[in-house]
Amino acid sequence: MTDTLPKIELHLHLEGAAPPAFIRGLAAEKKMDISGIFDARGNYSYIDFWHFLKVYEAATETLKTPGDYHRLTRAVLEESAASGVIYCETFLSPDFCGGRDVGAWQEYLHAIREAAEEAERQDGIVLRGIVTPIRHFGPEKAKETAICAAETAGDWIVGFGLAGDEKIGKPKDFAWAFDAAREAGLRLTCHAGEWGGPDSVRDAIRDLGVERIGHGVRAIEDLALVDELAEHGTVLEVCPGSNIALGLYPGWRQHPVGRLFDRGVKVTISTDDPPFFHTTMAREYERLADAFDWDAGVFATIARTSAEAAFCDPATKDTILKKLESAHA
Ligand SMILES: [Zn+2]
Repeated sequence: MTDTLPKIELHLHLEGAAPPAFIRGLAAEKKMDISGIFDARGNYSYIDFWHFLKVYEAATETLKTPGDYHRLTRAVLEESAASGVIYCETFLSPDFCGGRDVGAWQEYLHAIREAAEEAERQDGIVLRGIVTPIRHFGPEKAKETAICAAETAGDWIVGFGLAGDEKIGKPKDFAWAFDAAREAGLRLTCHAGEWGGPDSVRDAIRDLGVERIGHGVRAIEDLALVDELAEHGTVLEVCPGSNIALGLYPGWRQHPVGRLFDRGVKVTISTDDPPFFHTTMAREYERLADAFDWDAGVFATIARTSAEAAFCDPATKDTILKKLESAHA
């Protein structure tokens, strides 16, 4: 039932979506030994979230040039399109793409956009970018990243976010970067309420003025906050498979996404770093249908919420909404 549904993904880290075989191939070409990050079956291997961040960074070490990112983007979008994704927003970090140098970043971005256009011609999938500093690299580097974002803000770079280790620093440390991004016309999101509790969600909304929250699921620990999110229409980029793989919840039935949805919060569904969490968008939908008895009507609501929460321009949004309507007609 869920396989054929058109899907919209708003929370996807480009490097985190790299198929392991693709990264192994790149490492072999460059004669780099990164065998330690894979298990015996060739999947990414890590013991907890903090080790996952290290493995993630080791995998990104193989991605050295705009050409590598061109190939990465094609490989990722091929997987997404196979899962029925019609529109996707991906987090991009100038930290990994050109070391936060504006000129180098523009070259990486050009390569990524070119690959996205090829994928759109081939599979109809549409991609947009959200520039994302890495929280544990600190606020000073985030300022440089914000400058890269502001310089390239427009119809393709549409948002600004914050990823990385939620336990390091406070959202307000990044206020300068978020203000610069907002002034450049970028829409805002921030990872919170994954490793931090409900207060981390409140801090991100109050101190950074974000309209979407990456994860945000731990808001469920404070029902007054859940009601505020519902009332203000704050959108949660929920990634259930990621949360379960990282041990935040013991299983799909225990995941709060069902309760958040039932209480009126604008919930969207994404994969975060799919091969790291042994998931795909198709698999997320399948598991959610099983765990919460969600039918096509619920998934249609989620897809529409996602399209409305997308950071793209109105014309692109209109096209996606029409595609959804005709699929659910
Ligand atoms: Zn994420």
